[in-house]
Amino acid sequence: MSTPTIGVLALQGDVREHLVALASADALARPVRRPEELAEVDGLVIPGGESTTMSKLAVIFGLLEPLRERVRAGMPVYGTCAGMIMLADKLLDGREDQETLGGIDMIVRRNAFGRQNESFEARVEVAGVEGGPVEGVFIRAPWVESVGAAAEILAVHDGHTVAVRQGNVLATSFHPELTGDHRVHELFVEMVRSTRS
Ligand code: GLN
Repeated sequence: MSTPTIGVLALQGDVREHLVALASADALARPVRRPEELAEVDGLVIPGGESTTMSKLAVIFGLLEPLRERVRAGMPVYGTCAGMIMLADKLLDGREDQETLGGIDMIVRRNAFGRQNESFEARVEVAGVEGGPVEGVFIRAPWVESVGAAAEILAVHDGHTVAVRQGNVLATSFHPELTGDHRVHELFVEMVRSTRS
């Protein structure tokens, strides 16, 4: 099967690291900043960064509605950290005017693991990722307070849900793009492949 084209939402955040991880996981990776670029990808990664800024820029760049539409239409999406926040149907501790795309029936609490100086690493067992736990990098990370019936919990750290999948939409509180271990990206590339075939 031909190589899927996967975009990385490039409004703000750790775009480069995701482009590298996707390329290592055998995808054609490219940045997405405009609706025309979004139309050309088979799947999309929403990086870590700052969700309030990303939300603001998505409105300014005219991407908010096109993004929502593609997620609704079933495009595979993977969000890390700020990207997880963007994929939450409901957000706690967000800024008042902060928009999310939605996509997963879950309630996400922003900055739940604490501020910048409370960032940490932990080994996390992720359902669907073989070969042992992944090194989870948590930076001002959110956690998932609760999920609806359609969402599947893939990983828990310290009693808190940190990875979730609902259909074609995948989200992690942590940043696999920063570790050089590309197994979570491989899982996502596989999701994109299977929706294309
Ligand atoms: N706390 C950030 C936010 O609200 C997320 C941090 C991250 O992506 N590393 O968007």
